[in-house]
Amino acid sequence: MTVRDSQQTQILVIGGGPGGSTAAAMLAREGFDVTLVERDAFPRYHIGESLLPSVLDFLDMSGAREKVEAYGFQRKPGGHIEWGKQQWDLYFNELTGNHTYSFQVVRSEFDKILLDHAESQGVKVMQCVEVQKIHFDTADKRRPYAATVSRVGEADQRWDILFDYLVDASGRAGIMANRYLRNRTYHDAFKNVAVWGYWKNTNRLPEPKEGAIATVSIPHGWIWAIPLHDGTMSVGVVMHKDSFKKKHGRQELEEIYRETLAESPTVSALVAPGQRISELKVETDYSYASNEFAGPGYFLVGDAACFLDPLLSTGVHLAMLSAMLTAVSITATLRNDVAPQEATEFYENSFRCAYMRLLVFLTAFYHQYDGKESIFWVARRLTTHDVPENNIKLAFTTLMSGVEDLLDVREGAEAVTRDLVLQEMSQRVAENLRIRQDKAAMTAVYDSRLKQDNASFFGKVEGLDAIARTPENAVGGLYVTTSPRLGLARVS
Ligand SMILES: Cc1cc2nc3c(=O)[nH]c(=O)nc-3n(C[C@H](O)[C@H](O)[C@H](O)COP(=O)(O)OP(=O)(O)OC[C@H]3O[C@@H](n4cnc5c(N)ncnc54)[C@H](O)[C@@H]3O)c2cc1C
Repeated sequence: MTVRDSQQTQILVIGGGPGGSTAAAMLAREGFDVTLVERDAFPRYHIGESLLPSVLDFLDMSGAREKVEAYGFQRKPGGHIEWGKQQWDLYFNELTGNHTYSFQVVRSEFDKILLDHAESQGVKVMQCVEVQKIHFDTADKRRPYAATVSRVGEADQRWDILFDYLVDASGRAGIMANRYLRNRTYHDAFKNVAVWGYWKNTNRLPEPKEGAIATVSIPHGWIWAIPLHDGTMSVGVVMHKDSFKKKHGRQELEEIYRETLAESPTVSALVAPGQRISELKVETDYSYASNEFAGPGYFLVGDAACFLDPLLSTGVHLAMLSAMLTAVSITATLRNDVAPQEATEFYENSFRCAYMRLLVFLTAFYHQYDGKESIFWVARRLTTHDVPENNIKLAFTTLMSGVEDLLDVREGAEAVTRDLVLQEMSQRVAENLRIRQDKAAMTAVYDSRLKQDNASFFGKVEGLDAIARTPENAVGGLYVTTSPRLGLARVS
């Protein structure tokens, strides 16, 4: 039974996580008519608490920065990393980037701030409303034009929302990719399982790294410990699915978690005085990407498009980066600054580059591990399936010299290029980490040119060239602008 007439909106956003809320807020601030439907009632629980400093840039662009700054989340100065036999303290203010800190956030609270902010910018937000079905144009079968939604728990409360553009930010559920496009590819390299819980009364890392994330390798995986502003700590274990299966065949989850934490003296010392105050949560965090991030009339944002193993805390960054790229692409199209196809290609290429570079960076980071245990060896392999040749070329020719030449040579070039890119990235990561280990020598060895080069390299790896807003960072002749308004400009 339909109890409401159909509605109309210029842009329909599915999902009120950081991806959906950020895209919606940016588009509404540009004067467009935006409706966001979210299945849950906020605040709702979500994993993904440790943020990268780049998130501050996106919060600036959506106008939510002040609200997040004022809230009182735990400030994150960087990370404490124990990786195999090596150990580093990484501070954001040392070598790279514009920002000297980030935040560790309770996601239910952070996500609610962003969703409320979107509403305050003019977005029509509907919570407890779920997208049931997407309808496609009969002439252009790839173009979605309407969604049937229902009020959660009231199945007879259904209606249609007609739209010009669809932004699918539905997270791992990935409505478009999973139900319609069926184009999600899982990577061979990172098939991991995460088990985590929340603690109170734990110790914290000593100053100046009190708010830092601790990332510690153990023989069959790694552990995170993230201090939160409410006095709790998120403590999780990640291991390869095969190791997990083997253990789970003979042990209860509680036992696996307890024993795994005990493998790290650092994490054991952190949780020693504490009590766990939550049930354990489990998620298979296999990495995946859709073969296409955008098409006629639609954009996939954040986890709805792709997901990367959480080792480098890149999830919210990628969600907000893709939200911003979607907002500029739609804005530029609706204002007739670029053709729809150009905007789709710009989005596809710039988001794909950012994702691909982080995927290789992640693999290079796993390469730094000198042990021989399963998770690390599996993660060393990147297959054609993980990194297709055309994506390597796209993502790395502007980042590393020699890649283009190699691809112009024939047979076998694909594997050679993948190896070269990985090798170069591994060297960069190793050098960066080595320098960071010797704080005293850092200033001496790292003159300002090297520092700039380093910042630019890793900034590009994160995809921050997209917010540099200069023609030098153009993709396919287009680059992001924010002044006088958000959109895309053409290299003249
Ligand atoms: C174990 C683990 C640890 C992680 N740690 C980190 C970390 O430390 N730092 C980090 O940055 N990232 C981390 N991540 C990743 C992070 O959780 C995600 O990348 C991030 O939440 C993606 O944001 P999003 O907006 O794309 O999706 P989400 O935040 O998942 O939001 C999607 C929203 O869509 C809604 N939705 C879904 N289907 C429908 C529907 N049919 N109708 C209406 N609404 C719908 C959902 O209710 C949800 O609110 C981690 C992930 C895992 C698995």
